[in-house]
Parts: sequence; structure tokens; C-alpha cells
Amino acid sequence: MGAGGVDERDGRPWEHAVTRSEQERFWSFVVKGPDPDDCWFWTGAISDDGYGRFWVKRGTGQLAVRPQRYAYELATGEPLPSSTLLLHSCDIPICVHASADLEVSHVAPGTHRENMLDRAQRGRYRNRATLRLGDLPRQVRVQRSLDLRTVIVEHGWEPELISAALLGVELTHPRLF
Ligand SMILES: [Zn+2]
Repeated sequence: MGAGGVDERDGRPWEHAVTRSEQERFWSFVVKGPDPDDCWFWTGAISDDGYGRFWVKRGTGQLAVRPQRYAYELATGEPLPSSTLLLHSCDIPICVHASADLEVSHVAPGTHRENMLDRAQRGRYRNRATLRLGDLPRQVRVQRSLDLRTVIVEHGWEPELISAALLGVELTHPRLF
């Protein structure tokens, strides 16, 4: 894939109609936690930056879009300018829990960074440790994202396994299984 038309930075699904089947395909890659505050994890492709990639057909080519941006644009119904940075309040790169209500959303434009840091410090999120994946070295972050995806795909929503993956605990450790 990737023959022509690939622009990850400017991947904006709204430049063309987003079809229902494309949205269904998108959500088929997402596993949502049971509580309203839980993360929604992307289980599709993960790139070498530790973030997800969702491939969509646009024109005669394919475009790799970032799942959290795609989810945010679906939630708000508006395109995000390519210059607008989306930040995760939960600090988990493959989370796509987006909402137009920023008190609920785990991703928001960088202009809301202060609010998001406040929320994180209030400790709203119960399903994750205090580590900051975004601050980890790139290779470590990528591995955590891949491990987390493996856990979700193979075991579904299992909080202990999710925590282990986020903390970088060796997943083949016999005590975990
Ligand atoms: Zn999240």
C-alpha cells in the first residue's frame, strides 16, 4: 500500500465524503472500555512513532490518517486544520476516545492543553498508571503500543493485562497467565 497520495501529516478524511462503510471499518478496529471514562484502543496498524494509522481510499490513492484525528473529526463533525495538534489527556498514543465534549474527550486540540493537564492531575482516569507514554523514548513507546494492541486483540478488555502492557511488564511472564 502507499502507492501515491500518501500524506500522513495532512490526512484529513473530510476532504472527501466519509462513507458509512469506511466508518464501520474504522470502528471495527476500536475496543472500548466498559466505563464512560475508559480509553478506546485502536487495534489497527501502528506506525513507527507508536501511534495508529488508518488507511483510507481517497481519489485514486490511499491516505494514512491518524485514528485519533479521524475519531475527533467524526465526533465534532468538523475538519481539523492540519496545523492543529491533538493531544491525549490520557497520554496513551493509541487511544481514540474522542468527543465533542472536551470534559469527556481523551483527545483535544493543543489549545486546550491547560484544561487537559488539569484533568489528568485530578486523576479522573482510573484505568491507567501515572506514567507518561509520550515521554518515553520512541522505541519504547512503539513497543508499549504494540504490546497493548496484542493484549486487547488476544484478551479483550482485561484491566490487569492492560496495565502490565502500559507499564512494560514482560507479557510472557508466567505470573500473568
Ligand atoms: Zn484514553
